[in-house]
Amino acid sequence: MNILVVGGGGREHALVWKISQSPRVENIYCAPGNPGIATIAQCVDIAVDDLHSLASFARDTHIDLTVVGPELPLTLGIVDFFESCGLKAFGPSQGAAELEGSKAYCKMIMDKYGVPTAQHRTFTDAASARAYVQEKGAPIVVKASGLAAGKGVTVAFTVEEALEAIAHIMEDKVFGTSGDEVVIEDFLAGEEASLLAFCDGKTAVAMVPAQDHKQVYEGDRGPNTGGMGAYSPAPILTPELQQEAMRTVMQPMIDGMAREGRPFKGILYGGLMIDQGRIQVLEFNVRFGDPEAQPVLMRLKSDIVEIMLACVEGRLHETTIEWHDDPTICVVMASGGYPAEYTRGFPISGLDRAAAVEDVMVFHAGTAEKDGQIVNSGGRVLGVTAKGNTLQQAIDRAYAATDCIHWEGAYFRRDIGAKGLKK
Ligand code: ATP
Repeated sequence: MNILVVGGGGREHALVWKISQSPRVENIYCAPGNPGIATIAQCVDIAVDDLHSLASFARDTHIDLTVVGPELPLTLGIVDFFESCGLKAFGPSQGAAELEGSKAYCKMIMDKYGVPTAQHRTFTDAASARAYVQEKGAPIVVKASGLAAGKGVTVAFTVEEALEAIAHIMEDKVFGTSGDEVVIEDFLAGEEASLLAFCDGKTAVAMVPAQDHKQVYEGDRGPNTGGMGAYSPAPILTPELQQEAMRTVMQPMIDGMAREGRPFKGILYGGLMIDQGRIQVLEFNVRFGDPEAQPVLMRLKSDIVEIMLACVEGRLHETTIEWHDDPTICVVMASGGYPAEYTRGFPISGLDRAAAVEDVMVFHAGTAEKDGQIVNSGGRVLGVTAKGNTLQQAIDRAYAATDCIHWEGAYFRRDIGAKGLKK
């Protein structure tokens, strides 16, 4: 088979790496890819939102399956468009991707099908949003309804902060039309975990759970980022709680979307808040998380291409999915200054030495090639991912590898996975 992966981050590097292990695969292409991906696939210089060029490439190259990594092309309707061209694509339709593309829509569906989430209201005018915040008081959470690359959420601990966020989103339009609508919801206390499931429109099958580290500094302090690291399993999501989350959250969403005439195929990602055994949904994403994909895919024993085909063809119920027991961890190495303005263009050394550490994969995200050298080009640069017999061993291996890698300003958290050790 010929496979095209759409995207160019750490998640897509992990996807390409896993896909490359399938005995069914002959050629892998990645658009646009990155220098790490280029070592195992052919990178094609097409942007993820250029659906016409992607489809032309897929047709001309006889691609048998296209795997879509990021949310943007999914919300633009890449899967529907490919299908209308007679091309097979793994991921949700545009209608189903609205679960991520519109937090207002997602909340409406959760309410309709009884999926537990924070109490909330949706507003299209700033004055009513302000009045609601004044009435509710703080802490309170203000969210731009549309896509905002993980930056559209403000957890406000004072009313002033919440009012500022409303002005920012609805009047200054910092996220463009993504801020035409806001969702304002109650603050939820607890610990977060990510539960991802393969879905074929009817059935949802859980992956092993993972826990992300969103804040930039150790001890979960500082501003939110795209994710500074993740590990799996996440002990907070015990097997019992995972079963309950499948029963009360994931399967009801799949059943609900089918009833809405928008059957969900692809990856459904539940961002869950767990407080003393109580599960509430923070958000849904309609694709693999980045960095959760890296540790989760490293634990997948089965052929991912078989699973993805089963999802597309609606026969997930007859597919067996096996996982390695060994814990995994991904430490994200970021550019100096990230998530604010960051420095870039510095040569990265030690990549080969890091990759030689036992059971380590160095997934590239924000890297580029300049004069024959790999340099940092994005905020999150590398996802150093390791497997071990124990979580401690996985952590030790990942940090042995990060310690081999250097560039000016490189930053990473030293405490990824520490929460898992405490449990
Ligand atoms: P991303 O795409 O980066 O996962 P997002 O922009 O889609 O994020 P959410 O996941 O809804 O937004 O929120 C981002 C973070 O804000 C959450 O991971 C959580 O830490 C915090 N958060 C969101 N909603 C709440 C809430 N109701 N109570 C407490 N914290 C919240």
